[in-house]
Amino acid sequence: MQLHNYIGGQWVKPANGRYQQDFDPANGQVVAEVPRSDAEDTRAAIKAARQAFETWRKVPAPKRGEILFRVGTLLKEHKDDLAEYMTREMGKVLMEARGDVQEGIDMAFYMAGEGRRSFGYTTPSELPNKFAMATRNPIGVAGIITPWNFPMAIPTWKIFPALICGNTVVFKPASETPYLAYQLVKIMEEAGLPAGVVNLVFGSGSEVGEILLNDPDVDLISFTGSNETGRHVASTAGQHLKRVSLELGGKNAIIVLDDANLDLAVEGILWSAFGTTGQRCTACSRLIVQEGIHEALKTRLAERIRSLKLGHGLENNTDVGPLINQQAVEKVHRYVEIGQSEGAELVVGGSPVQDPILTDGHFYLPTLFAGVTAQMTIAQEEIFGPVLSMIKVKDLDEAIRVNNQVAYGLSSSIFTQDVNNTFQAIRDLATGIVYINAGTTGAEIHLPFGGTRGTGNGHREAGTAAMDFFSEWKAVYVDFSGQLQRAQIDT
Ligand code: NAD
Repeated sequence: MQLHNYIGGQWVKPANGRYQQDFDPANGQVVAEVPRSDAEDTRAAIKAARQAFETWRKVPAPKRGEILFRVGTLLKEHKDDLAEYMTREMGKVLMEARGDVQEGIDMAFYMAGEGRRSFGYTTPSELPNKFAMATRNPIGVAGIITPWNFPMAIPTWKIFPALICGNTVVFKPASETPYLAYQLVKIMEEAGLPAGVVNLVFGSGSEVGEILLNDPDVDLISFTGSNETGRHVASTAGQHLKRVSLELGGKNAIIVLDDANLDLAVEGILWSAFGTTGQRCTACSRLIVQEGIHEALKTRLAERIRSLKLGHGLENNTDVGPLINQQAVEKVHRYVEIGQSEGAELVVGGSPVQDPILTDGHFYLPTLFAGVTAQMTIAQEEIFGPVLSMIKVKDLDEAIRVNNQVAYGLSSSIFTQDVNNTFQAIRDLATGIVYINAGTTGAEIHLPFGGTRGTGNGHREAGTAAMDFFSEWKAVYVDFSGQLQRAQIDT
């Protein structure tokens, strides 16, 4: 199937006539043919968004919410199909793809409701016969730049709050997941979104993304992706004083203390480390284990990891799907070699899959390292694949120190039955998300999502925090005294 850009309410071919293919990472089959647009289409999309903003910003927020409610209803109706497309396009197993779509459904209904909330506040003025209030206001054109690993959740977490706040959108999805982006925008069109309010341009970061970062008609950038790109986005868009939100990488850890429920911990670890083949920003890639249970946990994990079934995510018995592409396989393998060369013990896995049935896909064996120290490269850098490193510690204080000794701060978790340990962990784990007796993944859409330190620049997605990024405050003073009253002077 050949996809088109969506600009000013029209599905249009790329002006430069260029296309590229979109592949199923599990078997190399072509999913779609996709425009490889450049500056011309991007500028046309920005222009359409700018024009639509003048009307859209004045549509009452509850009416904007009604459109989002229809979007949510349509997403729900198409959930199964969308999940299947997602598995074909980016490889995650069907159950997880359904969860990814569900995040979009939840966000649509949540943000639809925000149309009737979008609360500001009133406050007493310091002067008599004067009224003061603060209101939320739209900002303008939002450039939305997304990665491939949550092809429905991440775009909806950005686009829906942008829209409910009254902004218009130019959406540049990851080159690896255009088909899901296309489906999402088709649904928004069907739900009755006016022309120009959301525009979709397919193309690379260097050709489409760069224009969004530099064009003066784009007021804000909401970016999720790698730290390397995020730094570039921040510095380029920052030069133009755009508002920028960055959601970047993670090096998330699960802490398991001696008193943990080990059965539960094993389940949480497997789900967090090997779900989505380790390609979640919140994936667990470090396991910080108290010495008393270290050996027992290692043995049980090794056994369970060996039994994980790799395959196409549409097959019922598949536990772990492919990596996104061949570069990812090579990157993961490079880290495995670094781990070995730095002295870590390879317990399970450690190579691309040799199974002839899977040779057309990008499969890598789920891998466990033990004997890892906190400073090793595999314990510091984001691998973004199915590689888990065990780090042995003496006690909770050391576990927390190790957890916090990385450049990232997205998610962390602890398994313990002790209330004192629990509350110390909640206070001291320096991440934006903390789980108690659960793995590092599983965010719910009405809580703030994001990380500390190198994971971003302090903004949060989801919940009411999303409204803070996509709107700006206006302070309004209404003086009904009939005379000049001077704040701070007429006391
Ligand atoms: P990436 O940085 O390679 O790409 C992300 C997006 O940026 C893509 O759409 C890409 O085309 C675009 N881009 C690339 N160069 C650009 C440029 N010069 N200007 C503008 N846009 C440009 O990341 P990826 O490989 O797609 O995603 C994986 C990364 O995303 C991992 O590091 C992961 O941890 C992170 N991630 C973070 C979160 C979070 O919420 N913190 C969620 C999911 C993924």
